[in-house]
Amino acid sequence: MKQVPFLNLATVNSDDLDEMVMAAGRVIRSGRYLHGQETEAFERELAMSSGLSDVSAIGVSNGLDALRLIIRGYIELGRLRPGDEVLYPANTYIASILPVSEFGLVPVAVEPDAETHNIRLATLVDKISPRTRALMLVHLYGRPCWDKEIMSYLRSRGILVVEDNAQAIGARAREEGFNHSCITGSLGDAAAFSFYPTKNIGAVGDAGAVLTTDPELAATIRALANYGSDRRYHNLYCGYNCRLDEIQAAMLRVRLRRLPEIIANRRATAEAYSSWIKQPAITLPSEEKGSTHVWHQYVIRHPHRDRLGDYLRDNGISTDIHYAVPPHRQPCYKDIDFGPLPIAEMLADTVLSLPIAGIDTATAKEISMIINEFRE
Ligand SMILES: *Cc1c(COP(=O)(O)O)cnc(C)c1O
Repeated sequence: MKQVPFLNLATVNSDDLDEMVMAAGRVIRSGRYLHGQETEAFERELAMSSGLSDVSAIGVSNGLDALRLIIRGYIELGRLRPGDEVLYPANTYIASILPVSEFGLVPVAVEPDAETHNIRLATLVDKISPRTRALMLVHLYGRPCWDKEIMSYLRSRGILVVEDNAQAIGARAREEGFNHSCITGSLGDAAAFSFYPTKNIGAVGDAGAVLTTDPELAATIRALANYGSDRRYHNLYCGYNCRLDEIQAAMLRVRLRRLPEIIANRRATAEAYSSWIKQPAITLPSEEKGSTHVWHQYVIRHPHRDRLGDYLRDNGISTDIHYAVPPHRQPCYKDIDFGPLPIAEMLADTVLSLPIAGIDTATAKEISMIINEFRE
């Protein structure tokens, strides 16, 4: 079999190369590199793709900053305070909780469901305390995580639902969210997007966005992202520089137009893997009926994950692990007691991500056949 890299971004972007080069040239010739019409247009187009009408999209520097701006924005509005507890799925990427601890809020880990890799309703309720003020809702690997009943229950208790939509742009939940859209990123109170190059819509560098239907939060975040300035030379907050630049915005406009096709391709590859991989020891990922998974990662489980990964590497196929060390095991969080999280640990020890971006169904079939020949 030919060599299969886990992800080759040059290949992924090659279909759009001419358009991207043209768009970059347009920006350079315009002489306007920040606060320009590309960013404005991208914000409008991203807002439109959310399926909501009264919504603000704010282009920012990256996904982590999008999350930071949301947390800091809620702090400025008096809706979050240091010491407040924020629930989050224990198997997420660390960026989901860095902004929580950064502002003195307390990350409270919720065990994921071993089959969906997303949090479970029952476990979530157990973790609610009188100090719970927000949920960091992660649509991990591109699988929508939403349950209208439990989310409405959280909302009735004044708990904010912040979506970490870094991996799930364009995914659809089975039920509609607070704002009557099913599209992830418009389900809860505010959402963070990442356009890190490896994400389903990737920039040529760093980029991110915030989406919210709350006009007060949107105005606060816009100011915070621009030195805390709500109008010229007037600094309402001690803010940051978290701007999206015009070149990245122009790249993202090209890529966003292709989103339906990007999702369709990933879904076809995932479906090929799911129908061809037949190994009793492997647990395949699933899709919730009535929802649309966008397959940022295709994550299988195997009790001897490392041996399977080595075997695939020896056969020319690169794999990856999302994530080998969960946030609660990172040295930076050694002083926080997260409690026992056996499911998150088991997942960290058994998950293996197969290549998916830019992999056609014939290649997925070939990879599946090689997997089926794995003998421990
Ligand atoms: C990528 C990612 C982020 C951070 O996005 P950056 O643009 O890299 O800062 C946050 N959360 C999750 C779940 C991610 O996958």
